[in-house]
Parts: sequence; structure tokens; C-alpha cells
Amino acid sequence: MFIEKSGRFLRWLYPAATWRMDKNDHSVYLTFDDGPIPESTPFILKTLREFGAKATFFMVGENVARYHDLYNKIVEEGHQVGNHTFNHLGSYKHMAITYAANTQEANQLIHAHLFRPPHGLMRRTVYWWINRKYRIIMWDVITRDYSKWLTADDVVNNVKKYTRNGSIITFHDSLKSIDKLKYALPEALKWLKEQGYEFKTFE
Ligand SMILES: [Zn+2]
Repeated sequence: MFIEKSGRFLRWLYPAATWRMDKNDHSVYLTFDDGPIPESTPFILKTLREFGAKATFFMVGENVARYHDLYNKIVEEGHQVGNHTFNHLGSYKHMAITYAANTQEANQLIHAHLFRPPHGLMRRTVYWWINRKYRIIMWDVITRDYSKWLTADDVVNNVKKYTRNGSIITFHDSLKSIDKLKYALPEALKWLKEQGYEFKTFE
């Protein structure tokens, strides 16, 4: 299911979600899921600063509670914030009401109007509820930076191969991805800049 391009089935399942921005605009939307954590967030922020790029961080409430200074730093540096539930809830394991309460709990810390479901999946009942309260942001390009089967070069190549106008590109602010991102993030940003892409965040 987790391929570099978002599948048609998912797009059909969540029709009101945003998968890609304006295809006539030579811009990309960088997103970072699962943080903030001290092992990776400072590096990501520093790299974004070096490239003058703004991004959107879909954060997990329990990480924001633990590392609130990192949350503050993300906001101070002008990045956008998004809700990614309090405990990175799995898609179908929880009742809709549990999922909704968990998301609300996270939002008391994150104060977001954007939401991205962990693993890109949620029950339809959850989807309808979330969609009334948040703008749901999915993705157009998954870098798979979390995969142990991929090298840092593969991650850069995924960006080069699949990015197009209006792409929403997903990276992870996590322990699984940081070793690859140390090389792949600056390389990807350098390439995107060379291609003339602008970096934007969501309204
Ligand atoms: Zn996630």
C-alpha cells in the first residue's frame, strides 16, 4: 500500500482530502510527520533555514507534550503545524469516538486546523468527523525515508522522480528516517531549488 505515489483507491476513499496543490503552480509543499523529537527536529529546522524553506509539521501530541520547546521552535521559525493524533493511532483499531477524542487531546497542544491521519488511513466515520473540523492533508509524493530497505540516495531519487507542480512531499521527523535525512534532505532541497520550485505551506 505504501508506494511513492498516493493510490487512486485512497483518493476515492477520502474525496475531500487534499492530495496535491495547484498543478499550474511551480511550487512544492514539504511535510514532516511524527515529530517533534530532539534527535531529528533540530537538524530538519536547521536545513530548512539554510534553504529558506517553510514546511508543515504533522506532529504527534505525546511528542509535543514531551518536547514543547521544539514545538515552539517550529512555530517561531514560521512553519505550519498539523495534527497527527496524540498517540499516532492506527487506522482501524480504534472506535471513531476514541480516535476523535485522541485527536482533540492532541489539538489542545498543537492548535492546528490541518490534520493528517497516521498511515494515511482512517475509518470512514472518523473521516467524516475529522473533515468537519480540519483540513485533511494527504500527499502526492512519499519519500519512504522511514524504510530500512532504502538508502539515502533512494530517498533523493524518489523526490527527483515523482515531484511535479503542486506536489505535497512527505518526510518523517523520526528516528527511522533521520540517518537518511542527514544526507537526503539537503540534497533534495538543493535539487528542488535548482528546478526552480518554490516552497509553500498550507492556508
Ligand atoms: Zn505518522
